Amino acid sequence: MNAFSSPTSAPMQPPPIPFPSKRASDVAFSSLSGGLAVDIAVIGASVAGLFVAQGLSRLGYRCALIGPDPPLLRQKSGFDQRIFAISPSSWDWMTQQGLSAAIDAARVGVIDRMHLEAPPWASPPPIVLDAYRAAVDQLAVTVEQSELLAAGQQAVAMTNVLRLKESLLSLEPEGGGANDGLRSIRLENGQQLSAKLLIGCDGAHSALRQLAKLPIRQFDYQSTAVVANFEIDSHHRHTAYQWFSDRGILALLPLPGLAMSMVWSAPQSYAQSLTVLEPESLCKQVQGFIETLGSDAPHLRACINTPASFPLLEILTDRPTAHRLLLIADAAHVVHPMAGQGLNLGIGDIIELLEVLSGAGARHDPGSVYVLERYARRRAEAVLAISWLTRGLYQAFREPLPKIASGFANWAWSRVAGSSMLQSFMVQHAVRQGPR
Ligand SMILES: Cc1cc2nc3c(=O)[nH]c(=O)nc-3n(C[C@H](O)[C@H](O)[C@H](O)COP(=O)(O)OP(=O)(O)OC[C@H]3O[C@@H](n4cnc5c(N)ncnc54)[C@H](O)[C@@H]3O)c2cc1C
Repeated sequence: MNAFSSPTSAPMQPPPIPFPSKRASDVAFSSLSGGLAVDIAVIGASVAGLFVAQGLSRLGYRCALIGPDPPLLRQKSGFDQRIFAISPSSWDWMTQQGLSAAIDAARVGVIDRMHLEAPPWASPPPIVLDAYRAAVDQLAVTVEQSELLAAGQQAVAMTNVLRLKESLLSLEPEGGGANDGLRSIRLENGQQLSAKLLIGCDGAHSALRQLAKLPIRQFDYQSTAVVANFEIDSHHRHTAYQWFSDRGILALLPLPGLAMSMVWSAPQSYAQSLTVLEPESLCKQVQGFIETLGSDAPHLRACINTPASFPLLEILTDRPTAHRLLLIADAAHVVHPMAGQGLNLGIGDIIELLEVLSGAGARHDPGSVYVLERYARRRAEAVLAISWLTRGLYQAFREPLPKIASGFANWAWSRVAGSSMLQSFMVQHAVRQGPR
């Protein structure tokens, strides 16, 4: 049975790992200027860093993973503050890598249906995307960040990745001379490390990106995402909801059992008024707002964790590469969470990078211009597509638009809402293409 279609089935055994030992002397070699040297150094040990490091080690690269362990945010009861919708193609890759087998299947939610509501000032009916009608197993699964981190940490511990828990402090100028062919960094404890390739997975405010002076384009949504999990009074039937409104974009994602996870991307001042509420008042406020939108979503009974908030920016690098260095995941691109694609794009980066680095040409020199160019070309389109989709939807439904523009937005929305063929096409495209 397909592991994606049955997250409650017994966990599969991860594939055998070829490296039983992880002594530094097995992994690193000495650079000519002293200090440790590896084939590839990955900076940032959150989900993207852990996933790519274990994949590189399985390919046979001598790899170091640098940076502190992120805090595990699972709360005593209930779920993590951070819940991710993971696309089928990301999940399939995680299954091939043995990563999804390490995730507690009972904590994985399933999205079979997605209910999208246009804002009240636009007239079109809701768009309902349905896995059954589109003949796919599921639209996505929902997974807690702590589960993803634990799976990644377990996989890394089973490979011979050299784990250094200090932060990156500085980047040495481009090599030349004795160390040509390597790029060097210094960690907070003064340790020097050289690698043929540095991979930045150090998040939206990437230190490596700043040290390498890679230019970015930034768009401030002037919004904040408020996240919280709720107990509900009737089963969600694996349906996700998203409303576009004058108070931002509110999404509810199904969790296992009688629970849903909220991401409310609200204008800053309104979001601030939500973040100061006690959990009980927040629950009432969200429920009241959903009622004003008129919806068949389950009734929210109680907020079951401490809410959190995240300011929303779009950050895109002009190019994710520089001399012997590349950025992936949020270090390279941060997008609005409305489409639940940020981490999926990051996993798409990893899939593509591992494919490029598994080629014979890359084995000799994984940091060569040829490898970096190939990788950058393969990822440019996917990142732009998500950026256009999220920016476009944000602009189209942020507030009442001028007549011509709103007429066009309504027409396009209605076409999708009224056509099961278009809906199936959208679902199949999203499910098959996933993060790529
Ligand atoms: C509200 C919200 C909801 C979202 N929902 C979804 C969703 O449903 N689906 C989805 O796919 N995506 C979603 N996303 C996007 C997702 O959160 C990110 O894309 C993902 O977390 C990025 O992971 P990352 O590993 O690249 O970066 P991060 O998780 O930010 O990790 C960066 C790591 O780098 C480390 N680091 C930083 N500086 C240094 C340094 N100098 N040296 C060493 N290490 C360093 C940090 O300690 C951290 O561990 C959402 C985002 C938001 C804000």
